[in-house]
Amino acid sequence: MEVAVIHTQGIDVEPIIGLEVHVQLHTRTKLWCGCPVEFGSAPNQHTCPVCLGLPGALPVLNHRAVELAVRTSLALGCTVARQMGWERKHYFYPDLPRNYQISQYARPLAQAGLFEFPHEGRIARIRIQRTHLEDDAGKHLVGDDGQTLIDLNRAGAPLLEIVTEPDFNTPDMACEFAVQLQRLVRYLGTSTANMQHGQLRFEPNINLRVWHDGVPLRTPIVEVKNLNSFRSLHAAIAFEINRQATEWQQTREVATDDNKRNRGWDDERLETVPQREKESARDYRFFPEPDLVPLKLSNLWLRDLHEHMPELPIPRSARVVHEFKVTPANAARLVDDRPTADLLDHAGEAGGDKPTLAKQFLGIWARHAKQRRTSIARLGISPGRLAELANLVASGQLNATAATRVAEAMLTGHTSPRELAAQLHLLQVDDEQQIAAWLDAVLAEHAQAVHDARQAGKKARAARGFLLGQVMQTSAGRANPQTVGRLLDERLRPEA
Ligand code: ZN
Ligand code: MN
Repeated sequence: MEVAVIHTQGIDVEPIIGLEVHVQLHTRTKLWCGCPVEFGSAPNQHTCPVCLGLPGALPVLNHRAVELAVRTSLALGCTVARQMGWERKHYFYPDLPRNYQISQYARPLAQAGLFEFPHEGRIARIRIQRTHLEDDAGKHLVGDDGQTLIDLNRAGAPLLEIVTEPDFNTPDMACEFAVQLQRLVRYLGTSTANMQHGQLRFEPNINLRVWHDGVPLRTPIVEVKNLNSFRSLHAAIAFEINRQATEWQQTREVATDDNKRNRGWDDERLETVPQREKESARDYRFFPEPDLVPLKLSNLWLRDLHEHMPELPIPRSARVVHEFKVTPANAARLVDDRPTADLLDHAGEAGGDKPTLAKQFLGIWARHAKQRRTSIARLGISPGRLAELANLVASGQLNATAATRVAEAMLTGHTSPRELAAQLHLLQVDDEQQIAAWLDAVLAEHAQAVHDARQAGKKARAARGFLLGQVMQTSAGRANPQTVGRLLDERLRPEA
């Protein structure tokens, strides 16, 4: 990995950052029972003997969750196991009614992936150590009166845990990965990844490489638990880098096998705070889940999932830059929402001029979507009509301002853009008689400019430009500028 030394708190440090991500998979029901996965229901509505951990209740695997986990892992470049097992991971906490989580420890779903994304003008390469399936815990809240409240609607919801290698060295880089990962799972349809609903949660592992008498050493690893916004992810990592640099100078404590620590994030004080000491693997007393058989995946099924993988956002952005002639930043905006990116492609396939389509998607259509708090795809305009509007502009029959008015009219009804432009008298006028009439009116009104334009040099060019502009204005931008220019030059020629 590349070295990135920064100077903070008076010393040189090299941040070493890894991420653990929990992605809630977009299934209808929970991982081990038929209870619905639903956010925002009344507390404890979606529970049954299985997810309440009642004695004798047996888990039954949700195969849809396996499929979504496999698709996500394949998109992250991982090798998916043909056979995997389940383990019980024990800990005692009020939101975990069974007192153990069913997870994958020794034989995870997938391993050894690689996720590449553009970052600060280069390609960041983050190795994925492993992904595994597990169930979520419930929610543990403290009521106004200090009472402990438990809501088990979420208990048993399917999670995909993604563990990266410690390949990040800045908060920016970790955040960009998080943004790209959210976009990826939404593209795949494997998670809605709504952070406000806790469907995408991050736990960065952070420590520093520091130098003591020229010898590289590492500060103890801190895991910041359960961050559910990009902002807090960024802030927590940045805070830890500074805090560990300061702590190092006071304690000279280095990382050992048993001094990894958990900290929480205080969103009001904007700092990390100590939490319970992190359990080591031994404390969790992992053992094979006796109520479940190992899971075998067929090669045929895996190949089928692989072949039906959609074009992923990052390669798609690169293609859009090339085909639609836009900047990488604009390409990222265009592909962000998959249905909208599909619509853009379909409008291109319908014969629309691609650079103009891209401009209109980024401008006119993005504005209308934003006003309606929706996506461009959901404005409900067909690819054919989008293509036609783009081509009216690309061919010079409609100017950009007029296109805005036609677009407005396109949002109600199904009239073609060309017809709308005609009805609104917005199509470009190439009728010489009409243009000559506008031109003569302008020339009569601006005798001084006409005089100046007939001289030579800079002043004459400025006067010509002024007259041309006046004609365009008189025609409300509709006159064909080439025809105006030609007729104007004819009239400015010295009288024979
Ligand atoms: Zn249940
Ligand atoms: Mn986990």
